[in-house]
Amino acid sequence: MGGSGSGRWYRTSAKPLVEDCRKIDVWRWHNEGLLKPNHLFSWAWWGRDGTQKSSIGVYVYNGFLELSYTVNPKSQSPQSIKYRVDLDYQQCHFGGKRPFFICPNCSSRAVKMHLGNAHFLCRKCHRLAYECQRENDYDRMLTKCQKIRIKLGGSPSTFDAFPPKPKRMHYSTYNKLRYTVQIKEEAMLGALAKSFNF
Ligand SMILES: [Zn+2]
Repeated sequence: MGGSGSGRWYRTSAKPLVEDCRKIDVWRWHNEGLLKPNHLFSWAWWGRDGTQKSSIGVYVYNGFLELSYTVNPKSQSPQSIKYRVDLDYQQCHFGGKRPFFICPNCSSRAVKMHLGNAHFLCRKCHRLAYECQRENDYDRMLTKCQKIRIKLGGSPSTFDAFPPKPKRMHYSTYNKLRYTVQIKEEAMLGALAKSFNF
């Protein structure tokens, strides 16, 4: 980094970014004349009420961009991210060149990229990452519920009734376990229902 823009650069990168679904569009940036090499700009997303929700800093290099932003700004562990995205320029039929993002995950060309947990990815990779995350959550919850059911001497199936309290276990322990399973199994049902659009 460095250079005359670096002061502004760091101020821009300190701006918060919520981990909501955010899109960036390289044709829009191109059409607005933002992709000049050695140029820094910031890009913001606005809420319906007209307030700025989040923003990123973008530094334009020759052939690539460096995106700079903060994820989970309000949590205890905000994460500052600098993220390189390569550009590819394609000749247009009518003259001139059109830029594309190169997705950092799969290297395919993309006009738009979406912010997932912490990184901007093409639509395909973004959807995959989301589905993996959801699957992981589901599997983790299921394993935990099954372990508790087995620990109490029952079957691991979440379709079976919750096992009764073992003789030597305190009611408080049992109730805590039962509550944990209940919450997780309800959440899993909710996730399933959502995936089938109930
Ligand atoms: Zn991709």
